[in-house]
Amino acid sequence: VSAQLMDGASLAKQVMAGAKERAEELERTRGVKPCLAAVLVGDDPASRTYVKMKQNRCREHSIDSLLVELGPDTSTGELVKAIEALSANRAVHGILLQHPVPAGIDERAAFEAIDPAKDVDGVTFCSFASMAFGHDGFQSCTPAGIVRLMDAYGIDPEGRHAVVIGRSPILGKPVGMLLLNRNATVTYCHSRTRSLADIVSSADIVVAAVGKPRFVSGDWIKPGATVIDAGYNPGNVGDVDFESAAERAAFITPVPGGVGPMTIAVLIDQTVTAAERQSSPS
Ligand code: NAP
Repeated sequence: VSAQLMDGASLAKQVMAGAKERAEELERTRGVKPCLAAVLVGDDPASRTYVKMKQNRCREHSIDSLLVELGPDTSTGELVKAIEALSANRAVHGILLQHPVPAGIDERAAFEAIDPAKDVDGVTFCSFASMAFGHDGFQSCTPAGIVRLMDAYGIDPEGRHAVVIGRSPILGKPVGMLLLNRNATVTYCHSRTRSLADIVSSADIVVAAVGKPRFVSGDWIKPGATVIDAGYNPGNVGDVDFESAAERAAFITPVPGGVGPMTIAVLIDQTVTAAERQSSPS
C-alpha cells in the first residue's frame, strides 16, 4: 500500500465527541436533551441492526432515542401519520426513517412527512434542494461524511476532475453536487455509461458508490488520485479493489473504517444541530 489511508473511524469519533459536548451544553443551558426518533417498518434484520446501532451511538453521545416500530403490513397512510406525529412532537428533534421500507409503501410520501427542520438524515425534497443550491440545511449523511473526510485530509476539490460512479438519490447524486459546490468538475457515471474505465482514469477524485464488490479496478486509477470507496458489500468489502487501487492512489478510504463511520457521525452531529436550532430563543 503506497496510498495514505483516510481514517474515517478516527474522524467519526472526533465529530461525535464534539456533538456530545454540544448536546451536554444544550441540556445544561436550556434543559433540552436532543432526541432522535427512528422509524422502522417491517422485519428486515439488517435494517433492525442498523437502527439499533444508530440508537446505541445516540445513547453514547448524550442523545435520547425513540424507536417507532411498525409492522410489515403498514400502509403508506399509516406510516405518513406516524411520521407527521413525530414532526409535530416538540420533544423530538430529529427523525430517521430507516431505508428501505417494505415494497408497496410509497417511501417518497413517507419522507415528505418529515418536517425539514427535523430531517437530520437529509432525505426530503427540501433538504436535497438546499444541499444542491448550497444553502443551509441538513445534508444526506454519507455524502456529507465524504466531504468532511476529504476536508480533514486537506483534499480540496476545487478545479479537480471528480468522477462519481453511481447516481442514487442518497449517495451518488448528492455527493456529486457537494463536490460541484466545492468547484470540482464533476462527471457522473452509472450503469449506462460507456468507457467507464477511460473516464475513471482521468479522475483526480473517484467516488465509488455502485454496490458491487471490488468493481473499480486499480488499473483504472490515475496515479496520485484520491479514491473514496462508499461501497459496503457483504463480507466488509468495498466497491473498489483496495489492494490494487492503493498502489496508485495518493489517498484511499479503507472498508471498513472509511466512509461508513462518517455516515453515522454526521447523523449524530446533525441531530444535535437540529435540537440547537429548535431550542434557540429567537
Ligand atoms: P444503488 O441505489 O443501488 O445505486 C447504485 C448505482 O450504481 C446506480 O446509480 C447504478 O446505476 C450504478 N451502477 C450499477 N451498476 C453499474 C455499472 N456496471 N457501472 C456503473 N454504474 C453502475 O446503491 P446506493 O444506495 O447508492 O449504494 C451504493 C453502495 O454504497 C452500496 O454498496 C451501499 O451499501 C453503499 N452505501 C454505504 C453507505 C455508508 O454508510 N457507508 C450508505 C449508503 C450506501 P443506474 O442508476 O444506472 O442504475
